[in-house]
Amino acid sequence: MIRRKLLQVSAVFMATLGAGLLANLLQAATADDIKVSELKPGVYLFQSAGSNVVAMTGKDGALVIDGGLPEHSEALYKAIQQATGSKRINTLFNTHWHPEQLGLNQHASRDGATIIAHEQTLMFLKHKVSSPLVKGSFGPVPEKERPSKTFKTEGSLEFDGHKIEYGYLPAAHTNGDLYVYFRDLNLLVAGGAVGSDSWPLVDFRNGAFIGGVVRAHEKLAALVQADTMVIPATGRPMSGADIVTQREMYEKLFVDLNALMNKGMGFNDIVATNPLKGFESRYGDPSVFLDGIYRSMEMAYVPD
Ligand SMILES: [Zn+2]
Repeated sequence: MIRRKLLQVSAVFMATLGAGLLANLLQAATADDIKVSELKPGVYLFQSAGSNVVAMTGKDGALVIDGGLPEHSEALYKAIQQATGSKRINTLFNTHWHPEQLGLNQHASRDGATIIAHEQTLMFLKHKVSSPLVKGSFGPVPEKERPSKTFKTEGSLEFDGHKIEYGYLPAAHTNGDLYVYFRDLNLLVAGGAVGSDSWPLVDFRNGAFIGGVVRAHEKLAALVQADTMVIPATGRPMSGADIVTQREMYEKLFVDLNALMNKGMGFNDIVATNPLKGFESRYGDPSVFLDGIYRSMEMAYVPD
């Protein structure tokens, strides 16, 4: 049984996790473990597969945003087929290049789907990379599982009568983040730059920067209405009003951090000072986030 499962495992997973393979397989989700909610008619949210995954029913297969972790991908693929009634993936977005987004790339490739990502995401997937957010190293992803369509700033596509817009959020969570906006459904899939019940992770060694986090929230706040449903890469759904609140929080934080850095404070001092104290009850302990964004500033401002 384990041998059969091993053979099904994505090449992405093999390249990524190596020694942890067996332990992760034994924890792999079944289709019943995946939590499914209908966000809008024909649009579903799948949770517990390693990241939030959104899928829309289509006449010639589903449009899917992100793919969860490779070890949960078989269960997730089945859950998407059951919920959407679609036999195949037609279009897959990778909101960025972290392993939590890539579980369905193998399935999408097998289905002949278009895989859309920012051109920076494709660049990362071509190489072996390391990140403070990934154990060991990651990639390269096999060529046929990489994005087949990339863009620089923004793009759009028609899918079963819906115009779907997508755009780049530079230097936010990685250096290849994108959002997907279903304007007619008042639904925004925001990717890794946004956190709903926790602080977003900042991959500061791979291009993430506090200024990019601020800019991402400014860009998203300009897109949404107060009642827009917003789906981050992890955590509960949130609203357009939440994005506006977070934009203000991050704009103030960026100003405060610059002032503290000019006073000569290092990241341990910043974590101890905790300029995000007032938001702990909502988003939890910000120490890791503060440490990451302060390191992102040091890397940008302070010469070696
Ligand atoms: Zn990520």
